[in-house]
Amino acid sequence: MNTSSIRVLPARLANQIAAGEVVERPASVVKELVENSIDAGANNIVVEIEQGGHKRIAIRDNGKGIVKEELKLALSRHATSKIYDLEDLDSIMSMGFRGEALASISSVSRCSLTSKPENQEAAWQAFAEGRDMDVELKPAAHPNGTTVEVLDLFYNTPARRRFLRAAKTEFQHIEQVVKRIALSHPNISFELKHNHKKILKYTATNAEKRVEQICKPAFVSEMATIKYEYEDVVISGWVSKAGVGFDNNDKQYLFINKRMMKDRLLMHGIRQAYEGMLPDAKHPAFVLFLDLPPDALDVNVHPAKHEVRFRQGRKVHDAVFQGISEVLLSSLHSKQARESD
Ligand code: ADP
Ligand code: MG
Repeated sequence: MNTSSIRVLPARLANQIAAGEVVERPASVVKELVENSIDAGANNIVVEIEQGGHKRIAIRDNGKGIVKEELKLALSRHATSKIYDLEDLDSIMSMGFRGEALASISSVSRCSLTSKPENQEAAWQAFAEGRDMDVELKPAAHPNGTTVEVLDLFYNTPARRRFLRAAKTEFQHIEQVVKRIALSHPNISFELKHNHKKILKYTATNAEKRVEQICKPAFVSEMATIKYEYEDVVISGWVSKAGVGFDNNDKQYLFINKRMMKDRLLMHGIRQAYEGMLPDAKHPAFVLFLDLPPDALDVNVHPAKHEVRFRQGRKVHDAVFQGISEVLLSSLHSKQARESD
């Protein structure tokens, strides 16, 4: 007879299961760690990758750091400094709030967290090898800020490791993540290295220059600027002009409150605005920033926060459609005016 019994899973196993949702591949580790650096107020973030992240992912920042007494806590699940109660979820301004990333990442890798807050004399390092218990603390050398180093991702979860692609492919995903985050944070300097080679370097600048650093020089002058407000929805950025289509859709960036999103509702609004405005089989390019009050959306839909739920989806959709349509119409008119000159 089957005498099944219910038991509470050990913390490590629970974290490994939860890690499945947050840590899909090396690029998701990079996303979570860079977002933590941003939340810590860093203005300089260095990402070092070895073998596409299979072997090593290290993120160094000059943010506010973590005090020695909280290093261990930072690695445990549901431990966060970003929210205190349920109401806080309505006013989220930080990238993180679930207190899951470090616990998840450290449960599926050999992970160390080294940090020095400005007003702490020395730096300390916490090391967790595939667990969130028995974290070891030791003194370390580190300037003000934090470094998280992730070695041997998925070494203890072979099923996950099998899903990793070639180093080259994983690195391409990482590069995309860094570019996207850098696009919506022009005031932060970013550096990305792969196998000790410098791949990307963006120095802190303004939004126009950052978009040209990432998309291409002269991007801003080739695009139409959009600045549109409807009630509490503010849309800004750059969209390709009427009649200017691209062969593929790789220059399409949509940010909602600075988070890169793949939102079907808004993509529909964008596509609708471009209907009849582009040559057949061509795609628009855009870097669009939507800003809404934090309580107008729910980012707590998916652990990796790729999706949002809008309180008034229709309104946001229509604002996007309307805003882009106006820009396209005026670009069409100025094109016709130029052609009739
Ligand atoms: P969350 O970001 O959702 O709070 P994480 O597991 O990503 O959860 O991080 C846990 C906590 O560790 C954060 O709330 C923050 O206090 C601290 N932390 C993580 N990374 C950094 C960092 N780079 N600099 C300063 N503090 C950090
Ligand atoms: Mg986080």
